[in-house]
Amino acid sequence: SAQKETLGFQTEVKQLLKLMIHSLYSNKEIFLRELVSNASDAADKLRFEGLHNAALFENDPELKIRISFDAEAKTITIADNGIGMNRDEVIANIGTIAKSGTKAFFEQLSGDAKKDANLIGQFGVGFYSAFIVADKVTLTTRRAGSAASEGVRWESQGEGEFTLQQVDKVGRGTEIVLHLKEGQDELLNDWALKRIVRTYSDHISIPIEMKKGNSYGENGEVIVSDDFEAVNAASALWTRSKNDISDEQYQEFYKHVAHDFSEPLAWSHARVEGRQEYTELLYIPSRAPFDMWDRDRKQGVKLYVRRVFIMEDSNKLMPQYLRFVRGVIDSNDLPLNVSREILQESKDIDAIRAGCVKKVLGLLEDLAANEQDKYATFWQEFGQVLKEGVGEDFGNKERIAKLLRFVSTSSEGDVPTVSLADYVGRMKEGQDKIYFITADTLSAARNSPHLEVFKKKGVEVLLLTDRVDEWVTGSLLEFDGNKLQSVAKGALDLGALEDEADKEAQKQVEEVAKPLVELVQKALGERVKDVRATSRLTDSPACLVVGEHDMSAHLERMLKAAGQ
Ligand code: ADP
Ligand code: MG
Repeated sequence: SAQKETLGFQTEVKQLLKLMIHSLYSNKEIFLRELVSNASDAADKLRFEGLHNAALFENDPELKIRISFDAEAKTITIADNGIGMNRDEVIANIGTIAKSGTKAFFEQLSGDAKKDANLIGQFGVGFYSAFIVADKVTLTTRRAGSAASEGVRWESQGEGEFTLQQVDKVGRGTEIVLHLKEGQDELLNDWALKRIVRTYSDHISIPIEMKKGNSYGENGEVIVSDDFEAVNAASALWTRSKNDISDEQYQEFYKHVAHDFSEPLAWSHARVEGRQEYTELLYIPSRAPFDMWDRDRKQGVKLYVRRVFIMEDSNKLMPQYLRFVRGVIDSNDLPLNVSREILQESKDIDAIRAGCVKKVLGLLEDLAANEQDKYATFWQEFGQVLKEGVGEDFGNKERIAKLLRFVSTSSEGDVPTVSLADYVGRMKEGQDKIYFITADTLSAARNSPHLEVFKKKGVEVLLLTDRVDEWVTGSLLEFDGNKLQSVAKGALDLGALEDEADKEAQKQVEEVAKPLVELVQKALGERVKDVRATSRLTDSPACLVVGEHDMSAHLERMLKAAGQ
């Protein structure tokens, strides 16, 4: 056969391999889950490409995954007849990590196995998890539609390099042989492998086949069977009835669709009927992906049409402010040849998306009402993203506003737990505004001179320190009929909160301070719009306020910092 060539792994791959083996060993069975998950993705891709080019099926239309082992050679083989890979794809997909932000991610690793295991799980090691149990991996693959002589063999011992060789491969797809390390013999039996498949991969929609067990003939002779049988249920999880799906199955399916290693926080599964018929199974992750703020991130919700995978999309199926949602939408009505371009224009997709957004908001409302610990986790991970929705989704603004959580002057600590409804419930007699202050940090907000009069009067003020808060207060002008008011803007009118004594005090201050105000006005000249005396400050001598319709000082600083 053709010449073997040796190539080096990308630096990040080398680092990942070393750390992973060490930190994921206690959970080593997941290697099978990851390889089966990839095989299933490869089947999805073939089915999709096959819609436009039936020749790719090469007279072998029954998509499946086969797992076998050889106890003597100490190998486990996972084979699929999915899309396969050509030479360039092999190099790009399993010699390098193409995810953006990879470098920054690796800089966070500490060398502490426990902490790193968590991070690595978040990153998703996928294919490389084979090296948890194997000290050599041989992958042979051929892309659907290419000639049998165009097979590629990739082999590596999981250290610095891998070899590549062109080989003949009759069947399309990918076959992975794991040469097990010493001490992995417990994996080399039927029972153990079947258990692992049923535990982690039962939800896979195509058959995962293993050899039938031996049977015994009339005279007790062993009949060795060469037949294979499916070990999993082999039906798409989301098509099954809710009552037939265990929490564990929902959780494992999540790990597969989301390429995540941790459990989801919550999910919503429903069949929707009406103008559009579709099934949605949508998950809220328990942890933000490391690339949540990356504009090029690709992950999103997967669209299927009648069980056929069409695409994964991070824009069209979910709005930006719900970009953390993962899962599947399976439509009964969309055409199978639906393209990205068609999706952009499709009213049907708009209807499906609107329905799914409502489901997700409902799920969040349910968590907020009934599972506050989970909601707190959600808020910590994704609160800043959800806040974008107040400006982005006009139709659901009210619902989103109710889901927001803040720190306020009434908060015990620094954890945002105050909802706007909580705030309104605590408003003082005569108070008709929701007061807030924006600042870079909580301590800057808490120590602001603007708060002095509110402290004196016992009026709660929301302390806003997220970048996105300027966007929130610019879009959400009122809640439940109460205007949102910055305490740092304009001639603050405390309305009915102001009593006679306050008004008298203000009058006196203005009179007494008149000569001083004139002096300061002269000294500052054009640099300020106005100088006023106030009785509102109790501890500070002076403070800056901005005009009612001007940009807040905080926003001005942010824009300056961004070079605007
Ligand atoms: P992920 O599945 O999250 O993309 P993996 O490390 O599991 O990451 O896999 C990396 C890539 O290698 C996949 O995205 C896919 O392109 C390719 N790949 C892995 N296994 C297979 C397979 N069995 N068939 C075809 N392509 C595969
Ligand atoms: Mg994978």
